[in-house]
Amino acid sequence: MEKGALLYEGKAKRVYTTEVPDLLVIAYKDDATAFNGQKKGSVSGKGIINNQMSNRLMEYLEQNGIPTHFVEEQSERETLVKKVSIVPLEVIVRNIAAGSFSQRYGVEEGLIFAEPTIEFSYKNDALHDPLMNEYHIISLGIATREEIDTIKCYAFAINDSLKTFWAGCGITLVDFKLEFGRLSDGSIVLADEISPDTSRLWDTATGKKMDKDRFRRDLGGIELAYAEVMKRLNAHL
Ligand code: ADP
Ligand code: UDP
Repeated sequence: MEKGALLYEGKAKRVYTTEVPDLLVIAYKDDATAFNGQKKGSVSGKGIINNQMSNRLMEYLEQNGIPTHFVEEQSERETLVKKVSIVPLEVIVRNIAAGSFSQRYGVEEGLIFAEPTIEFSYKNDALHDPLMNEYHIISLGIATREEIDTIKCYAFAINDSLKTFWAGCGITLVDFKLEFGRLSDGSIVLADEISPDTSRLWDTATGKKMDKDRFRRDLGGIELAYAEVMKRLNAHL
């Protein structure tokens, strides 16, 4: 389907209208940012890998009963998706302590949780995506109690599916960020992307980081790491 007007340019993707009002095209860029946009760079080929990986994972999740925005891959960087009204929350699921969780609570990175945990951040760059509890979400009318329950139920089910999937690739799923949206009938679906930009993925055998922390922490070898994750995913499908 032909792209129409540029609707939105974000840090990692561009969003275009199409001739069908309920469908959008998402185009993945190689741009990388971290620390709320303060650190900027480019990772060659990242947009191709993130587009294709996110699509394969969303297809897999659909097979496991999770509704997603995915419709069709249009090209190596572009995907047709269902238009949603994004619920402005970053939904973060964690299996192992890392990143901001480790810093906030003074817990060593790598601590395996007794049970997976979830948190919400208000998606607002100007406010640096502050943490938000369920009462705040309801008070501000960001989502209803029922919608929060649906989102939590999907998020933990996605975690179960993805943990199993990545384990089959020799990869440990540490944590990841999800975004959900409402279709025109009000139903909640998984939107945005699932990729090494939005997940922490550690090589199970060596503990090597295979995700965006290589960029955030200047570890080098990010192109190779993303390519290795994609190779293992394709081999496992
Ligand atoms: P950011 O806005 O954080 O810089 P991106 O560069 O990834 O992020 O831009 C993609 C934008 O598209 C995000 O704001 C995301 O919430 C939004 N989005 C993702 N999927 C959909 C969808 N199916 N319908 C409408 N908007 C979407
Ligand atoms: N994450 C994301 N976008 C954000 C914040 C976090 O995709 O704006 C992902 C991040 O890649 C990691 C998980 O969510 O997989 C948890 O991130 P954390 O809260 O530890 O924040 P960070 O260390 O990235 O500041």
